[in-house]
Amino acid sequence: MQLSLVIPAYNEAESLPELLAWIRRVCDPRFPSYEIIVIDDGSTDSTWATLEALHAQHAPYLKAIRFARNYGKSAALHVGFQKAQGEVIITLDADLQDSPDEIPALYALIAEKGYDLVSGWKKHRKDPLSKTLPSRIFNTVVRLFTGIPLHDFNSGIKAYRAEVAKAIDLYGEMHRYIPYLVQAAGFRRITEKVVTHYPRKYGHTKFGWERFLYGFLDLVTVSFLVRFGRRPMHFFGGLGVLAILVGILIVTWLISDKLYQLHHYGQVRREVVEQPLFYIGLMVAIIGVQLFLAGFLGELLLRQSPQKHHYILRTELS
Ligand code: UDP
Ligand code: MG
Repeated sequence: MQLSLVIPAYNEAESLPELLAWIRRVCDPRFPSYEIIVIDDGSTDSTWATLEALHAQHAPYLKAIRFARNYGKSAALHVGFQKAQGEVIITLDADLQDSPDEIPALYALIAEKGYDLVSGWKKHRKDPLSKTLPSRIFNTVVRLFTGIPLHDFNSGIKAYRAEVAKAIDLYGEMHRYIPYLVQAAGFRRITEKVVTHYPRKYGHTKFGWERFLYGFLDLVTVSFLVRFGRRPMHFFGGLGVLAILVGILIVTWLISDKLYQLHHYGQVRREVVEQPLFYIGLMVAIIGVQLFLAGFLGELLLRQSPQKHHYILRTELS
């Protein structure tokens, strides 16, 4: 199969009929074989009833999956990726903000130009300022942090080579960092394409202001996992060694200062335990030991985890 469209939908009943009709209009003449996978992410409106009705109308193109409850966009994408049979996978938001007219061009960039990931760039974004401004800041920080020169990390419209989409491990709210995860998985041909963006026609956004706070926390998590996920001791032990060294340095200084004063003046001006530095040294050393313990616990967890042997094999000659 040439193409799989993966569409997460949470309370998007009004948008889906229009979206599917639009996709069929664009894709039927261009793609002899393709599928549309819609994941109902535990909607509480009539999204599933709508999908059942649409399924009768759009079979065999439309495949629909329903979650038992709302697991989030990352979970929906993950399940869609695992089900997808196409050689190219394109994701779209279900709310008609992303245009199906972009599909052929995105497909060509993957199938003909050989990119691993093409990320849509909502250059002229049709959202309120309360969303576009924080989003600019967010994207600048992520760009600096990851070194990937994209303008719009979190856009819902993206195209992947199937192998790439299936290789990344999406859960929680990790969908915001897909380009980073793709790069960390070893796929380096990442680019972006300017896409048209429409204002939301029906329903309302599923993400509030908290998305920015959570987003930054997730950035810390993701970059920790990418760098130290398989070697937690290097992170915690590294900091631990540093802390203990500082502790030792402080204590050595205090003791040698005391010995020096005793030797020269026969008495000390202040006892070691009367000096703030002593308590700082003590605290730093204890923190250092705790960091070590965190490192050991991390290594023990990793040892139990099947993740430790999650390697992505690209090709094999035999
Ligand atoms: N979505 C989802 N599960 C959720 C939240 C959102 O599947 O828990 C879907 C939603 O239905 C839409 C896409 O993710 O298709 C993007 O959501 P939204 O349009 O609310 O985000 P925004 O455009 O405001 O960034
Ligand atoms: Mg939207």
